[in-house]
Amino acid sequence: MARYIGSECRQCRREGMKLFLKGNKCTTDKCAFERRNYAPGQHKDSRSKISDYGRQLREKQKIRRIYGLLERQFQRYYEAASRKKGITGEIMLQYLERRLDNVVYRMGYASNRLSSRQLINHGHFLVNGVKVDIPSFLVKAGDRIEVRENSRDLKVIKQSIETVARRGGVASWVEVNPETMTGIFRAVPNREEIGLPVQEQMVVELYSK
Ligand code: SF4
Repeated sequence: MARYIGSECRQCRREGMKLFLKGNKCTTDKCAFERRNYAPGQHKDSRSKISDYGRQLREKQKIRRIYGLLERQFQRYYEAASRKKGITGEIMLQYLERRLDNVVYRMGYASNRLSSRQLINHGHFLVNGVKVDIPSFLVKAGDRIEVRENSRDLKVIKQSIETVARRGGVASWVEVNPETMTGIFRAVPNREEIGLPVQEQMVVELYSK
């Protein structure tokens, strides 16, 4: 699957906020955004002259980068959300939160979504007892996610579980037993629970032009 191969920290600087793309490093003083809190390139003050379109575009990029998706993949979630009844922006975020790579990250089995995706691609997780190696797999309320028995000694997973508190802890809408490395996706989170500091309504405005 195609993916972004540039610097993660550069993406945070471009969006003017910490996107937490590098796991534990993001909470230390090694975070590049803490040291250089301005956009990459020469024009450090360019963000102050941004148009409405520019703001919508930046907001879309922010969300897309947080979830680590390419444009086309991201747009598909918007399109799916726009076909549903309800608040399109919130439904779009709920789709993104239901992706298996996000759920594994939210459960603390991976320190960031990219690492989560790699672990899933390598077949380290079961959903309801069946191996799933597709990061975009959509998890439903009540689904059981667990680390495969043969993968439970993996250092990267153990370390991530041990340090989850540093990254804000396990999400409130999942239940995790760190001893058995099993967990339940209790419910699809609402907007307040998702809690990301983004304005998804701007994405709707951008795409519905
Ligand atoms: Fe962003 Fe994390 Fe890099 Fe800081 S360390 S700039 S939060 S990816």
